[in-house]
Amino acid sequence: MVVDRQGRSFRNLRVSLTAACNYACTYCVPDGRRLVAASDELSAADMASAVTLLVEATEIDRLRITGGEPLVSAKLEPFLRLISGLEIKDISITSNGQLLAQRLPLLLEYGIRRLNVSLDTLDAQAFREIARSGDLGSVLHGLELARVAGVRIKVNMVPLRGANENQILPMLEYCLERGFELRFIELMRMGHLARDTANFSRQYFGMDEILELIGSQHTYIQAPAPLDSTALRYEIAGLGHFGIIANESAPFCRTCSRLRLSSSGWLYGCLSSSNRHALAPLLSKPHDEALSELQELLAGALADKRDSTFSGALIPMKAIGG
Ligand code: SAM
Repeated sequence: MVVDRQGRSFRNLRVSLTAACNYACTYCVPDGRRLVAASDELSAADMASAVTLLVEATEIDRLRITGGEPLVSAKLEPFLRLISGLEIKDISITSNGQLLAQRLPLLLEYGIRRLNVSLDTLDAQAFREIARSGDLGSVLHGLELARVAGVRIKVNMVPLRGANENQILPMLEYCLERGFELRFIELMRMGHLARDTANFSRQYFGMDEILELIGSQHTYIQAPAPLDSTALRYEIAGLGHFGIIANESAPFCRTCSRLRLSSSGWLYGCLSSSNRHALAPLLSKPHDEALSELQELLAGALADKRDSTFSGALIPMKAIGG
C-alpha cells in the first residue's frame, strides 16, 4: 500500500463513469454546450477491471460513481453488476437527479442506499439558468421516490452570488423537513474558473457568509465528521444536519484519501492538479505485472496531493469526476 509523508493513502475512489452530462451548469461548462462522452471512454467491463485492480492494490473500501452524469450512461447497469462482488463496504452515486425516478429501481436492485443529488435551487427559473437544461420537477420527484424507498440522501448545492444565494435558507428548510443532509459546496476554481478569476471571485459565496445566513434563522453547533470527510458538519438541534465543503475557506488536503478514475482510464490524485496517470494500458497486461506497475502509478498520484491549500486546476470537474 502506498502511504505518503503525511500518512495519507487512498481509501476512497471516485469513478467518473462517463464525461457525458444532460446538464450544462454555468460553473462547470463555459460554453453552455451539453457534454458528450469522450471518444476513448472505457467500456463498463474495463472500468470494472480497473476498479478491481485498484481495490486489490490499495485500502480502498468506498466507491462513489460520478461523472459527467452517471445516470445517463448505458454502462451503469453492467458496471454495477460487475463490481457487485468486490469487497467494497460502501457504494454510492453522485447525480443531478434528473433521471433518478427512472433509474431508482436499478439502483435499489444493486443495493445502492446512499445518493448525493446535486440541486442548486428550488426556483424553477433559476434552475434553468444555472443547469441550462433539465427541469426542477423531475429532480424533486426523483428525490421524493428515493426518500420513500429509504435511500440516505445528501443534497449538494453550490451557492453562487447573484444566482442562488437567496436559496440557501429555502434549500435548508426543504432538506431538514425531509431528512436530507444539505451540503454547500464552495465554488471551486476548476476548468474555465481557474483561468477566469474575475468571474470566480464575482460568484464565490463562501463558508462565513453561508454560516452567517443560517445563523440568522437557526442555532447550530459543529458536529462530528469522519477524519477524512470533505465536509464540515453542523447540527441544528432537533431538526437535522447540514455540511459545508469548504475547499477555499478550510481545505481538507491534509486528510484527503480520495483517488479519481476518469471515464477514459486516467488516475488523478488531487483536484488541484491536472497531472494524470494512465491506468488503461495496464488492463491488457498479465495480472502481476499490472499490479506492480499500478503501485508506481499510485505513488505518482499520491505525490500530486497538495500539502494544505486548494488551488483548483484547469481540468474541469466533469472530466476529473466531481
Ligand atoms: N452530474 C453529477 C452531479 O451533478 O452531481 C456528478 C458530476 S458533478 C461534476 C459533481 C458535483 O460537482 C456537483 O455537485 C457539481 O455541482 C459540482 N461542481 C462542478 N463544478 C464545480 C465547481 N467549479 N465548483 C464547485 N462544485 C462544482
